Amino acid sequence: MSESDLLKKVVALCKRRGFVFPGSEIYGGFANTYSYGPLGAQLKKNVRDLWWQLFVQRREDMVGLDGPILLHPEAWRASGHVEGFNDALIDCKSCKARLRADHLLEKALGIDVEGLSLEAINTLVQDNNVRCPHCDAFDWTPARHFNLMFSTELSKTQEGSSIAYLRPETAQAIFLDFKNIINTMRVQVPFGVAQVGKAFRNEITPGNFIFRVIEFEQMEIEYFIHPSKWETTFSNWLEEMQKFCRAIGITKTSLFEHPQEKLSHYSKRTVDIMYDFPFGRSELYGIAYRTDFDLKRHSEFAKVNMEYLDPKSNERYIPHVIEPTFGLDRSVLAVLCEGYREETLEGGESRVVLGLHPSIAPVKVGIFPLMKKDGMAEKAQAIARTLSKRWHVNYDEGGAIGKRYRRQDEIGTPFCITVDYQTLEDNTVTLRHRDSMKQERLNIADLESILAPAFEINV
Ligand code: ATP
Repeated sequence: MSESDLLKKVVALCKRRGFVFPGSEIYGGFANTYSYGPLGAQLKKNVRDLWWQLFVQRREDMVGLDGPILLHPEAWRASGHVEGFNDALIDCKSCKARLRADHLLEKALGIDVEGLSLEAINTLVQDNNVRCPHCDAFDWTPARHFNLMFSTELSKTQEGSSIAYLRPETAQAIFLDFKNIINTMRVQVPFGVAQVGKAFRNEITPGNFIFRVIEFEQMEIEYFIHPSKWETTFSNWLEEMQKFCRAIGITKTSLFEHPQEKLSHYSKRTVDIMYDFPFGRSELYGIAYRTDFDLKRHSEFAKVNMEYLDPKSNERYIPHVIEPTFGLDRSVLAVLCEGYREETLEGGESRVVLGLHPSIAPVKVGIFPLMKKDGMAEKAQAIARTLSKRWHVNYDEGGAIGKRYRRQDEIGTPFCITVDYQTLEDNTVTLRHRDSMKQERLNIADLESILAPAFEINV
């Protein structure tokens, strides 16, 4: 299967089996928005919950936060987003295609133009006779800056500006509540704050399914440290991020160290965790050493002292931060692409399997009566009721048993339980494993304790 086929197949499976639907489809779609269907919503929730479990629940040095999407507009001036969160945009006057100038030049000339001025970009386009990839014309508007933040209008009775921005990243709310957290939670540096939520970016060239969308979910951490500790903390978090990848079954990763001269204004070191998506190697997650940039800026703009007093050394300073950031939608895309496989079975039959790690599989157990009659359905339903108190299960009594197994394979269900005539006599069932297709006979009473370890993550 070619890589481009893989993406098509994943997209088709997502639509067919209720993982991801195109947004506003009955209105003909709304570009670059998607709806997570019942199974996608559950898969996403499982990834999000595991992340929270690993990075908040299991750690004594971390707390959680759920800040607002709309922050005071001044916060986005302090963070640099109002002025600097831009892409350079260029329009083809002939076919009206709107493109990101950096993507255009990257494709046409094979060069990285990040950080170049608009003037330099325009010169490159003109001097190299760069043509429109859609219509081959050479008829461009000058490149111009385009802010990626969505803005919305508040009622005019609000004080100050009536423009508010939908957050383009979740991180800033953490800085705004830094003092509240210090004052209420008895945390001491080093400690971190984790937050999961929607972020919005008016991306010029979105695409590649849920890889680049205008509304997406981020899972972000600001880890506050003494500046002398930044290097070891950075390495530790990078390792933690890679462990998370492995825990949820993401293996095709590599690291990309941002060159010093290309770092964002706030960062002293940035590393991206790249993933080999079917459309090429692209950023999955990132980690940055943001120094004390954000707390300092908010301190200046809000006129609030953001210093921390170390109770042991009595040192007073603005903590620095290491920021590990994870995209939830890109995590979902990575596990779907990595998990998808087609197998030819003995006898020439084939099956599609979504080899998801059991901990994130949307349905943990499929439960079937071999036939509906003679009390088998009732027995299977009773098992489903019991197991559904702990896990998301799927009761299915329709069609041939082989077909029911295939349906579960395709949505990544790691286990299936079948109730048959023997069950009625001795309370045993068959447990069928998704990957090996092996079947074993087990007592109903033992099911929970046998299944539970499989859904744990190995970290
Ligand atoms: P890219 O270079 O791909 O635009 P970025 O460097 O702007 O990404 P960050 O600002 O570091 O991304 O955002 C943190 C994480 O949020 C990314 O690693 C990614 O997983 C996710 N993310 C960012 N933009 C989008 C988007 N438009 N759609 C889906 N996920 C996104």
